[in-house]
Amino acid sequence: MSNLLSSYPAFHRHSIDQAQDFWKNEASRIDWHRPFDQVVDESRLPFVKWFVGGQTNLCYNAVDRHLKDRAHQDALIYISTETNQNHTYSYTELHREVNRCAAVFQQLGVVKGDRILIYMPMVPQAVFAMLACVRLGAIHSVVFGGFAAQSLATRIDDAKPKLIFTADAGLRAGKAILYKGLVDEAIRLANFPPEKVILLDRGIDPHLSWVKGRDLNYETLRENNLDAEIPVQWLESSDPSYILYTSGTTGKPKGVQRDTGGYAVALAASMEYIYCAKPGQTMFTTSDIGWVVGHSYIVYGPLIHGMSTILYEGLPIRPDPGIWWKIVEQYKVSVMFSSPTAIRVLKRQEAHYLHSSDVSSLQGLYLAGEPLDEPTARWISEALKVPVYDHYWQTETGWAILSNVPGVETSPLKWGSPGFAAYGFNVKLLDELTGAEVGAHQKGVVTLLPPLPPGCLTTVWGQDQRFIDTYFTSFKHTQVYTTFDWAIRDEQGYYFILGRSDDVINVAGHRLGTREIEEAVSSHDQVAEVAVVGVSHEIKGQVPLAFVVVKDASVLQDSLRRQGLYKEVLEAVNKSLGPVGRPEQIHFVSMLPKTRSGKILRRSIKALAQGEDPGDLTTLEDMLAIEEIRRAVTKP
Ligand code: ATP
Ligand code: MG
Repeated sequence: MSNLLSSYPAFHRHSIDQAQDFWKNEASRIDWHRPFDQVVDESRLPFVKWFVGGQTNLCYNAVDRHLKDRAHQDALIYISTETNQNHTYSYTELHREVNRCAAVFQQLGVVKGDRILIYMPMVPQAVFAMLACVRLGAIHSVVFGGFAAQSLATRIDDAKPKLIFTADAGLRAGKAILYKGLVDEAIRLANFPPEKVILLDRGIDPHLSWVKGRDLNYETLRENNLDAEIPVQWLESSDPSYILYTSGTTGKPKGVQRDTGGYAVALAASMEYIYCAKPGQTMFTTSDIGWVVGHSYIVYGPLIHGMSTILYEGLPIRPDPGIWWKIVEQYKVSVMFSSPTAIRVLKRQEAHYLHSSDVSSLQGLYLAGEPLDEPTARWISEALKVPVYDHYWQTETGWAILSNVPGVETSPLKWGSPGFAAYGFNVKLLDELTGAEVGAHQKGVVTLLPPLPPGCLTTVWGQDQRFIDTYFTSFKHTQVYTTFDWAIRDEQGYYFILGRSDDVINVAGHRLGTREIEEAVSSHDQVAEVAVVGVSHEIKGQVPLAFVVVKDASVLQDSLRRQGLYKEVLEAVNKSLGPVGRPEQIHFVSMLPKTRSGKILRRSIKALAQGEDPGDLTTLEDMLAIEEIRRAVTKP
């Protein structure tokens, strides 16, 4: 990087104004089998192709190329507090397992372009399977383990996989989730069932049943291929690597399609600029491989960068709430990535757990997925004594849209802000109605001017028109990508996410993001979690309702204390937002309905509060939470 670009604003400007030059340089971070001859093809916007003419392979970049210098370095560190098994694979061992798995797929007839659906718990074989797919040029579609049969069936029909790779069961807090039974059921429901099911028998389900002629035992197939070496299939940079569905928070999940070369380059660059990670260090991302964070920062990002990556099967609070910090100490984790939702869970536990491990190896904690409220951010950064970076992204983009970029320049962190526009992202805040760009401190929809940078979705799987209609038609006069999130930006370029644009609340002409009110509510120190939704109101148009989970539920047993708390929370909102933000009512509940990726399902809360149907609940984590909301809003 030249000195001229050592200030982040200049660096960002360069990435937009001289995008070709910028990404051409970044592309040298990965190995190319054939060099590209065009950096970007934007002749068919909004469709974009990065690194045209180049050939590469994700598996080669994540595994093979490290064998020369890192053969004996840990590549994949598997830790399960569910089965109490740990296993570490060096790059050599990872390479061997991926080759065996690729040989198994190949024997079953898998060729470039075939889809393989991976429905697996957090076990190393899931990672082998992902890498084996991309090695062969097959397209993986990892479906979050434990999704109900109907959700799985929908994804089977969308991706039409040749094979499903699954396991007998996953474990959650010691309780078995019988994956194989769910797969059988999903295949019965599906219109395009796969030919074969490969089954990893972990020995959890004693009643495991096999369908003759269709189900194959992974262990047997693997043993027949112990010495396999499967050559890498070189792919065009724009060839698809995987399909992954969005969380379904705002509606029906979308099948995001990702390319190969652009994704590899984007991740490689982010490891240095955003995560400040060095090859040889250890990264611990607590997500699930079924989500985009798991794809990008458990599997591909750290491995492409030559790091050791931790795959953790278990909860953050078992065997006790200190488990993550013990892992950090034991494996000298440098970079950690988690979600605000998980940190809020830890915040409700006793504080001493955080202080009983030596976490001095940590350089930074990165959080994404949901708004990070100030009390949680403050709590965790004071406890860990490292920078805590909120950053904002979507399944669609594959990496951060808004972030601090400490690998380029250390900038002060601001509570409540995920930072600036990341390099490569030409972010504009647009007025919802007029489409005009808004000024500092004015609310607007977060949009991206095409071309989307490398790493972003290239289309919706099998539905090019849906890609355009969903993301690029919100504004009449300009073709921009909309994130469907609402934000403001200050004079220094820091963004503040205010909530989903669908959830904006209009109280007597004042437009408020759910996040603004939620932030005000959670400034009360008894509040563990809160969801705010707007419901229609005859006079004011809409009014906010707040659903609050308190830290100490015993407060609610005593009616005087309950009333006191109710008033104090209203007062807290009054103080920071004034009367317009004041919730019309506060409902105390024991949990909030969330998607399985930990996002609050405000659309369903809102629907129930207005006496409507809660909509698509297939990605809901716990039905009891919805029932509780239903009871709360129908109480006389
Ligand atoms: P769907 O698109 O199917 O409705 P989803 O948008 O929840 O589901 P994801 O791609 O998993 O699916 O989530 C991306 C969304 O998560 C963002 O659009 C934003 O609303 C929210 N989000 C992610 N990171 C942050 C963050 N740091 N701060 C605030 N919100 C965030
Ligand atoms: Mg979304």
